[in-house]
Amino acid sequence: MALSIGIVGLPNVGKSTLFTALTNQGGLAANYPFATIEPNVGIVPVPDARLDALAELDHPAKVVPATVEFVDIAGLVAGASQGEGLGNQFLANIRETDAIAEVVRFFGDPDVVHVAGAVDPASDVDTIKTELILADIATVEKALPRLEKEAKRDKAAVKKLEAAQKVLAGLNEGHRARTLGLDEEEMEALYDLHLLTSKPMLYIANVDEDQASADLPEIDGCKPVPISAKVEADLAELDEAEAAEYLEAMGLEESGLARLVREAYRLLGLQSYFTSGETETRAWTIPIGAKAPQAAGVIHTDFERGFIKAETASFEDYVALGGEKGCRDAGKLRQEGKDYVVQDGDVMHFKFNV
Ligand code: GDP
Repeated sequence: MALSIGIVGLPNVGKSTLFTALTNQGGLAANYPFATIEPNVGIVPVPDARLDALAELDHPAKVVPATVEFVDIAGLVAGASQGEGLGNQFLANIRETDAIAEVVRFFGDPDVVHVAGAVDPASDVDTIKTELILADIATVEKALPRLEKEAKRDKAAVKKLEAAQKVLAGLNEGHRARTLGLDEEEMEALYDLHLLTSKPMLYIANVDEDQASADLPEIDGCKPVPISAKVEADLAELDEAEAAEYLEAMGLEESGLARLVREAYRLLGLQSYFTSGETETRAWTIPIGAKAPQAAGVIHTDFERGFIKAETASFEDYVALGGEKGCRDAGKLRQEGKDYVVQDGDVMHFKFNV
């Protein structure tokens, strides 16, 4: 179950260029077990140097990175919620993603026409925000008669109706569902509606090549992640060593893909832990705060159900002490029980019984 991010933005801001570049960089990873499923869906390995460090120690038969799925959602134009452009098709596509990344044009190139006539990030963000809010208003309005009917029959459904009315009022004032301060119960009541503006959102600033590490001002309360689609497209053509050289020459510490994924993990409260041995060295994605059984459950539900304990070393110890055996000998392989809160980078070995 890869983390799924929908890419949106006005036409001509560089969405397709970026999508193609990001998903081709995915092809670089060795033993990469996934392929593109649909033309607009790309599964990309999460860049993580720690995985390479572990593989160097354990020489596994394969290395499996965590993955992120990007969905290129073309065709959002002013009026999309009314059925302009790809309209409803577009909206159905983003409903299923965990987060939305909006590509915003910052690059200047006069040869590339801007749909609204001039490069104006704040105004572009506003246009898309309006479309997403309008789409959500339509969704809630459509659901209301049903929710009203249900609330008359069933007391439990009253909460749902009230949450929907509250969110509709907020949307009508131009606020995203996510910024309305809904409590957990209300969020849950509204879950079925898959409101677009209830999703976490990040902005990708598609900047000129020399701006790829720029510190950009906030738009709409969020710091955009600067990425040059051109630089990413170049990176996609290079092998690993060449890519590293190229980044250095550009004065960049990492690829835009790495930056984007890190930002998405932060936004969604996610982290990675590892399993490593002869057969496989692998990164797994879990929520920050997850306990050991929940982390085990990402591998297999049996691991969670029959969880006994997790032999755990920190990534730093594991590498410094030369792997599991070294950690055991040095007393750094902890026996953690079901209340252990997994830490980012933990290298874990689960004992279970079903
Ligand atoms: P989309 O409509 O948002 O998918 O935009 P495209 O990816 O098709 O890009 C629109 C045009 O902008 C194409 O001609 C791209 O080559 C160009 N473009 C995209 N990203 C950049 C960039 O970072 N710099 C420059 N100069 N041009 C870009």
